[in-house]
Amino acid sequence: MLKIFNTLTKKKEKFDFLFTEQINIYVCGVTVYDLCHIGHARTFIMFDIIIRYLKNLGYKTYYVRNITDIDDKIIYKSKQKKESISFFSKRMIKLMNEDFLCLNLLRPNKEPRVTECISDIIFIIKILLKKNHAYISDNGDILFSICRYKNYGSLSHKINNCCFYENKNINNLSSIYTKDFVLWKRSIDPNEPFWPSPWGSGRPGWHIECSAIINKFFKGKVNIHGGGVDLLFPHHENELAQLKSFKNDFIVQFWMHSGMVIINNNKMSKSLSNTISIRYLLKKYDSEVIRYYFLSTHYRHPLYFLEKNLCLSKNILEKIYMSLLNCITNFHVKTNYKIKLRNIFRNKFYDAMNDDFNTPKACLILQKLSRYINKIKKNNIYLANILATDLVKLGNILGLLNYIPKDFLFKNKNISFSQINIIEILVKLRNSYRINKQWNLADIARKKLLTLGVIVEDNLNNSTYRFIN
Ligand SMILES: [Zn+2]
Repeated sequence: MLKIFNTLTKKKEKFDFLFTEQINIYVCGVTVYDLCHIGHARTFIMFDIIIRYLKNLGYKTYYVRNITDIDDKIIYKSKQKKESISFFSKRMIKLMNEDFLCLNLLRPNKEPRVTECISDIIFIIKILLKKNHAYISDNGDILFSICRYKNYGSLSHKINNCCFYENKNINNLSSIYTKDFVLWKRSIDPNEPFWPSPWGSGRPGWHIECSAIINKFFKGKVNIHGGGVDLLFPHHENELAQLKSFKNDFIVQFWMHSGMVIINNNKMSKSLSNTISIRYLLKKYDSEVIRYYFLSTHYRHPLYFLEKNLCLSKNILEKIYMSLLNCITNFHVKTNYKIKLRNIFRNKFYDAMNDDFNTPKACLILQKLSRYINKIKKNNIYLANILATDLVKLGNILGLLNYIPKDFLFKNKNISFSQINIIEILVKLRNSYRINKQWNLADIARKKLLTLGVIVEDNLNNSTYRFIN
């Protein structure tokens, strides 16, 4: 049974919906004012895996992720680049899509841009005004009234200071931070984008866009709402306040937050200029290596980014692929041959994933299975093929092991395809010498392969090869 940690209740809770039910998933997307960084990579890889896993369990998923394409930072950056705002944001969206494609992220079912949802935003603000949850401020902006929403702080577990006198058990008032926030910004600069509204021309605030998009695509219910933990307060707190004030019976069942990325003991942030772009990493590492690296830390924990650990992930993945070398990875098996052994690995993998997506543990199971294949490959290729097929299936759930093993190994060892051909010809040649008992020639071929970093291993009818670490 899958259990997920819910930020709202601070507990792991059972995720026991009917198989036929569609799982509505919303993840806050990117504000497109710069290249996407490894913080984005971590969050979106994690939710990619959550969706892949839910699909694997038999759920139907409906995944929406917004794109913030209007915002102060976008306006500032486009001016800096001397590009129009819409040209600039479209260019950044294109770069984002390229990065996400390289990371092998599943496309959301819907990926609305904020500028396409202005009428949905105006609709929700109208209702909030009507219900007195919002008001027009002196400068013409429309603000959300936090005091009017009595559960403010229930998600981030911060307390609403407007209402603190109603709560007698507050010890630490100094840590409380709340203020009314903008739903609609009145237009001041005619050179900046604006849209007409019943309250004059202007543009939406940031928090309202997600609530409006959630309402547009999900109608009253979200099963999983996700994002980076840096969005928990105030963004998600405000999103929830807006949704509940708009429609009291609106349900968000699970709030999930991925941990921060820490670089040199600092939270990664633009202001510290210690960001690392996805593009930079992709130039140096394969996307599966990057994915494996992020999966090695549990998604709720902070991730202390160290590039040398990416090399470690690369080595582990290489070893896993090496164990698959010379095995059939789409082996069709109908018998119950060694079913107990197969189930041990399988069940451990699912137990790990069912425990709030414990991917570090799941990755260890993949490693164990791969070591086991290595152990038995020489004597029982039939079982090795079966287990290799299982290993690839489990890896695929995490978005890993999509390569043909030798393609991955060559790609990551910078070996060209002409070299692959030479290696394969030499292995075949050596094998024919061996069959014809031309031992001297077979030995010359073996030595030549060694100089290419390849070790040949013989079994009864065939020879397999692997790379020296
Ligand atoms: Zn959001």
